Amino acid sequence: MAFESDAPLDLLWKEYSLAFRDFDDHTLARWLAQTLGQLEGKSWRLSHPLIGAYRIGAQTGHERQIWHKRLATPPAAYAESPCCRAPSLPLLTRDVRESGLICQHCNETLVPFDEIPEDVRPELEAWAGQYEPVHAVAHWDDRQRKSAGNYDRAYEVAAQDAERLLARAGCELAVKLLTHFPAVIWEDQDECLEVRPEDVRI
Ligand SMILES: [Zn+2]
Repeated sequence: MAFESDAPLDLLWKEYSLAFRDFDDHTLARWLAQTLGQLEGKSWRLSHPLIGAYRIGAQTGHERQIWHKRLATPPAAYAESPCCRAPSLPLLTRDVRESGLICQHCNETLVPFDEIPEDVRPELEAWAGQYEPVHAVAHWDDRQRKSAGNYDRAYEVAAQDAERLLARAGCELAVKLLTHFPAVIWEDQDECLEVRPEDVRI
């Protein structure tokens, strides 16, 4: 999961996740299964508080191998994931071409890019292809920055492009993925370009 570093934000999420440590295995399994029922049928922003809560609960559940113990039955629409046998809950990110769709339980690849259903894959590929050079602006070296003339302006334009591309991920791409998954999460921020969830309007 995302909370592995000692960055201040990760430490805060680690503190939040302590709430789930007090759940016994049965209670945690039931909470996860019930929450999957609430998530079903919709695409969700990664920044949504319900998703934040689910992700830290899912991380605790993964550490305790909760889905192997079959303590609660998740809603039938969620297929068992090949990576960790948890219910399939994919996250769409700008790195979809390299990493595929990401499992929200074990943080590994849930669906490799080549195995994403064909009616959505070309559009995801085109979108990620548009996003790559936009994101790269945040990582330009000195030579590239100088040749751009006004780097602040180039960075600002890239951030605005990223806002639009992320909005498309939420409005169009995640919605299309919903025909194949009971619920889909999409990343609604770009930390390198300082695009915050509230900047991405759908
Ligand atoms: Zn997994």
